[in-house]
Amino acid sequence: AGSSRKSARECNIQVAVRCRPLNRKEQDENSPSIVECTPQLSKITVKGLKYDSKTFAYDHVFPPETSQVDVYETLVEPLLDEVLTGFNCTVFAYGQTGTGKTHTMEGVRSSDAVTVEDPGLGIIPRALYQLFEKLEQTTNEFSVRVSFLEIYNEELFDLLSPLDQYQKLRLFEDSRSKGSVVIQGLEEVIVHNASEVFGLIQRGTEKRRTSETKMNKASSRSHSVFSVTVHQKESSMTGEELLKTGKLYLVDLAGSENIGRSGAKKDRAREAGNINQSLLTLGRVIQKLVQKEQHIPYRESKLTRLLQDSLGGRTKTSIIATISPAMCNLEETLSTLDYAFHAK
Ligand code: ADP
Ligand code: MG
Repeated sequence: AGSSRKSARECNIQVAVRCRPLNRKEQDENSPSIVECTPQLSKITVKGLKYDSKTFAYDHVFPPETSQVDVYETLVEPLLDEVLTGFNCTVFAYGQTGTGKTHTMEGVRSSDAVTVEDPGLGIIPRALYQLFEKLEQTTNEFSVRVSFLEIYNEELFDLLSPLDQYQKLRLFEDSRSKGSVVIQGLEEVIVHNASEVFGLIQRGTEKRRTSETKMNKASSRSHSVFSVTVHQKESSMTGEELLKTGKLYLVDLAGSENIGRSGAKKDRAREAGNINQSLLTLGRVIQKLVQKEQHIPYRESKLTRLLQDSLGGRTKTSIIATISPAMCNLEETLSTLDYAFHAK
């Protein structure tokens, strides 16, 4: 396990598993907890299997009592420094619906008064708070822009568009810069402080919800991609100006139950049109990056095309796999733990 963790670090991908507490429904159904976390060793053991228990090792393991700030400081804070230096980074939340992806990425606000002391805040607001804090400590001129989009059924939709319609966005290769893409018409909002971001997340979430009702979509099948772009102008002693641009992608993925576990199940899911191309391709892309393969199939899905210049190479990635501790979710939990293990 030691050597595989080392190789994971070399290719800049960190994999963490976060187990949420048993919820009310699971308690009411007397579904016992079958997940044992050993955070000191970054290990997770799943009991409740027919014969033996199964243990997995990752870069980090977060047991149910882990605070939002712990998750943030361990996985995201180091990426922020990269972004400020001018690199791109990506954070993914991956897991079965209902296991805490949105809780981890967005979190909850305990009141309308927003402060960074609020323990419920997830990664997105915390990253923005810290970003402004760090930028304000420099003498650089800077600007921060955010965008928020959704990928549903391999189509892109702008969650911050001021227009009423839920319009499809088009993705183009950027002719000026190899490997990056341009999204035509995507709303990029300049933000001046972290608290403005709450309004934007809320606006995006509402747009997503209305379109879901109108178009009869299943929210668990869509990915949401929140991006933060930081431009800085640094003036040196000699009066030279240095421009730096870094980008942070914060991705709340579709429910992992949308790719299925065994091959047989996958085929049935495919027949039913239930395969999520972006989720499937992301798994392959990450696996090939970890194995240092030459050809990385970025072009096979919208999500990986979009993230092409922020996955692999010099960029850093954190993957947070979320799981339920309950016996009733055993199959999906094992599937998530397997997926996360292969990303290492
Ligand atoms: P997902 O986005 O993966 O479908 P959610 O983030 O919506 O799941 O979480 C489902 C429910 O579980 C929510 O009510 C959320 O507040 C709760 N929950 C998730 N993770 C945690 C956690 N670590 N601690 C406490 N509650 C959590
Ligand atoms: Mg969610």
